[in-house]
Amino acid sequence: MKLASFNHGRVGCIENSELIDLTDLVNGGEQSWPPVAMIRLIANFNALKTRISAGTALPRLRLQDAALETPIQWPNKVIALPANYREHIAEMKTGTGLISNFSADGQGFFLKANSSLSGPADAIVLPNLSTREVHHECELAIIIGRTGRHISRANAYAHVFGYSCLIDVVVRGKEERVMRKSFDTFCPMGPYIVTSDEVASPETLQMELAVNGVIRQRANTRDLIVDIPAMIEMASSVMTLFPGDIIASGTPSGVGPLHAGDKVTIAIENVGSMELDVIQSDEHPHAVWRK
Ligand code: MN
Repeated sequence: MKLASFNHGRVGCIENSELIDLTDLVNGGEQSWPPVAMIRLIANFNALKTRISAGTALPRLRLQDAALETPIQWPNKVIALPANYREHIAEMKTGTGLISNFSADGQGFFLKANSSLSGPADAIVLPNLSTREVHHECELAIIIGRTGRHISRANAYAHVFGYSCLIDVVVRGKEERVMRKSFDTFCPMGPYIVTSDEVASPETLQMELAVNGVIRQRANTRDLIVDIPAMIEMASSVMTLFPGDIIASGTPSGVGPLHAGDKVTIAIENVGSMELDVIQSDEHPHAVWRK
């Protein structure tokens, strides 16, 4: 199933050119705040699945009439893996030298602000930092479906609800990674969540990211250093994972700068694709960026 958020926090299931509106099944309601309808849908999915599959008596609208939003708008956390492909580590070592040179299997994970999430119809807004590069990182998002702590490798896929496309956007530089990666719109995710039953081989997914039609990143999840079960095992050894939590799996090589006017496309096999505009903010930057 393909699950989407749309029209100010409503949730639905995409079926061909239609969207089955599931908002009332989870007591979501338009404009409800905080916007957690998708998390309720994920947490209660097994109980609701039969009704959703039947599809009868549920309201429908044309997909083209819906404004798609980032699928999970208020997750408990967005976990992200650094340096999780060897070729990316190599390119960062030969670049600025500012990135620590050991990989995710020794470095662990970090968090991005949940408020940095944006959706398939939202532009990436570049902060007004003319001397800095803002880079795209093409990543598979893993969506957690079941609460768990100390999840074993063998049990990890049982906690995966589905997958989505995610771009980890970052200002390169010396500041704390969380700040450099947490500007609003620095975590585009979408265009929807594909449930795990429709992604037969998450360990061999082909993915690519293009800027203005030119491929910058092309990779396969088989080259992950910390693979999907290991990510879940590692993260849950520290923190409880909840339905709707997002894990950004780390970027392959080919990261590069974004500029205003660019069009960025991310596509992941069996998961989806989306194209995003890049625009420039003219807000005055905080002094911390000039130190
Ligand atoms: Mn990343």
